[in-house]
Amino acid sequence: EPQQIMRETPAAPQRRTVKLTHPERVYWPDTGITKEALADYYAAIWPRIAPFITGRPLALLRCPEGITGQKFFQKHVWKGMGPQITPLTDPKHKSGEPLIGIHDLDGLIALVQAATLEIHPWGASIADWEGPDMIVMDLDPGEGVAWSEVIAAAREVRERLEAAGLAAFVKTSGGKGLHVVSPLAPKADWRAAKAFSKSMAEAMARDTPDRYVATITKSKRRGRILIDYLRNQRGATAVAAYSTRAREGAPVATPLEWEELGPEIGPAHLTLANLLQRIASQERDPWHGFRAASVPLPAKS
Ligand code: ATP
Ligand code: MN
Ligand code: MN
Repeated sequence: EPQQIMRETPAAPQRRTVKLTHPERVYWPDTGITKEALADYYAAIWPRIAPFITGRPLALLRCPEGITGQKFFQKHVWKGMGPQITPLTDPKHKSGEPLIGIHDLDGLIALVQAATLEIHPWGASIADWEGPDMIVMDLDPGEGVAWSEVIAAAREVRERLEAAGLAAFVKTSGGKGLHVVSPLAPKADWRAAKAFSKSMAEAMARDTPDRYVATITKSKRRGRILIDYLRNQRGATAVAAYSTRAREGAPVATPLEWEELGPEIGPAHLTLANLLQRIASQERDPWHGFRAASVPLPAKS
């Protein structure tokens, strides 16, 4: 019964058995990456990506014609989806359209078969829909912001999270910015997670107004970094660690060691083309201690 999956079960390497139609279809024309190459990438990365995409609602960016064609952001199950994809009933909206879930590698390959080029999970698992099990601080540089400033922002977010007793992990977004992610023991509710992340974003904007903003207003973002805390509300999503992006170069949202953050690794530098080699040379996943580092969100001080 997929609704009862234990999300702490470590993912073992698996073989993919879902058959792809048109495996030769090119999804990233600029690099020639095909549907089959995408499936092979996900099969190889499975042990690392599994904890972030199984047993939780997913939004998908589907691109049947590849990154240059029409893209649609899909939050609900659809007719004709593979049987390896699991409908999830949101307990708060029981009569609504079911959400999208997977519980194994075949589910992930079924997403590939459906031309999913980006996977955006909720920050909560189906074991506890109301208790977010991570906070994502999404750092969005406005025009004219140097990469070094985005890195400085990520380090400041880390310091603030650690000062609150939380762990902090960093990943590239595969787009323009960085995400700092904090694993939570799912004790607090969405309201508390949003309030916590909002108050951190607002404190940063208050303390250093020439560098940070906490509101979406476009005009204020030029030359500043938006500390986007709105990933932390019920139903919101952020791209999964190790998900590809439907952008030129086939970038991957990639977990980094904090020590790696520097000018050499840009936000979209790690890609489907170079990531497996990087992983082969690593002693361990930069996010290896992620789930073990979970603590409850601190009560408001
Ligand atoms: P970047 O580094 O370029 O900012 P990002 O993934 O952080 O990359 P954002 O625009 O900051 O991109 O984040 C927007 C988030 O909102 C995405 O991560 C995704 O989960 C969600 N999102 C993206 N597209 C849609 C959409 N069409 N509808 C609703 N939510 C979306
Ligand atoms: Mn972002
Ligand atoms: Mn954002």
